[in-house]
Amino acid sequence: MLRNNPGAKTGSSIEAQLASGGGIIVELPGDADWRALGEEIRSAVQIDIRFPSFKDGRGFTLASQLRTRLGFAGRLRAIGDLIPDQAQFLKRVGFDAITPDRSDLAADWARAEQRYSVVYQPANDAVLTIPARRTGDDLEALNARYRQSDALEILRDALETTWRGRIALLSSFGTEAAVSLHMIARIDPATPVFFLDTGRHFAQTEQYLRTLVDRLELTDLRVLKPDAEETREEDADGYLWQRDADACCALRKVRPLARALDGFDALVTGRKRFHGGARAALPVVERVADGLRINPLANWSAEQIQAYFQTHDLPRHPLTDMGYSSIGCWTCTAPSYGGGGLRAGRWPGQDKTECGIHAPAPGAAVRPERR
Ligand code: SF4
Repeated sequence: MLRNNPGAKTGSSIEAQLASGGGIIVELPGDADWRALGEEIRSAVQIDIRFPSFKDGRGFTLASQLRTRLGFAGRLRAIGDLIPDQAQFLKRVGFDAITPDRSDLAADWARAEQRYSVVYQPANDAVLTIPARRTGDDLEALNARYRQSDALEILRDALETTWRGRIALLSSFGTEAAVSLHMIARIDPATPVFFLDTGRHFAQTEQYLRTLVDRLELTDLRVLKPDAEETREEDADGYLWQRDADACCALRKVRPLARALDGFDALVTGRKRFHGGARAALPVVERVADGLRINPLANWSAEQIQAYFQTHDLPRHPLTDMGYSSIGCWTCTAPSYGGGGLRAGRWPGQDKTECGIHAPAPGAAVRPERR
């Protein structure tokens, strides 16, 4: 069925043409063969696809073919016997409008369109499916999505939806750690929290860990230790940190974390861009050698961190007042006294600035993140 509106105006927008009663409108049954359609279908401003019964899904296929095979860019409208449960998928296969036969279900249709915040099946739209988000198949889209969100929203989505049950937080229990730990506790205090016990931590860090775990009522702290046999073989005298700091970090941090990540797809970190160095271009979601890292505080400033501490009355690491701005193993950490940046006291006198647990995936491009 073809209806030609005599008032068509060349060059005007689809909506303007329709509003003025112009343009070609085509109505097709759901079982129409798109390959057999004439040239007029390409010049139509609107195609209506009729569903004879909500149980007949051929209109979905036809809409998808018109969009993906024919490249139809005009308006697609679903008409006929449709039910609100079909709202989301009608939109996702390319329909712009829905005019169901029954007009008494308007409120149900409105609710149905809002109901689903996540999708599992790919379609013609740009919505990322949950499987694609879990595997980080489209990091740019993930980062674009999270750019609109604050840190707590990102964490909530990551913990409760996208990586539910397959995500943990890694914490150093250092000077800023209380912020992400507090956020995690607000969402789900049973979230696994990893702590890398290198055997070289300050006593104050261990004390701070107990304080925060108790105060925030975290129930799944996982203390990760280096493998005893590897330690005996590679660091018999306990001075590997002096001879080869990279090898020591690999033994005490990188490998224990890699083992603990079995069964997890993503790891939350508390890193921020203002830490500088390799972190200056830190994205919210990144792929590293052993999986995905979620950095909800990536764009936070030092002032925001301090404000969060005050707002939530969080305890400070006992070494903060002694000039330590970033705290790792006592063997490799010195006070920075504010000079040379927040991480200036780490591995003092060496070129080393990171321990290697977030090493980029092979071939990963480092691109400045926008926000
Ligand atoms: Fe070893 Fe120092 Fe790395 Fe700690 S920070 S694991 S002591 S090299």
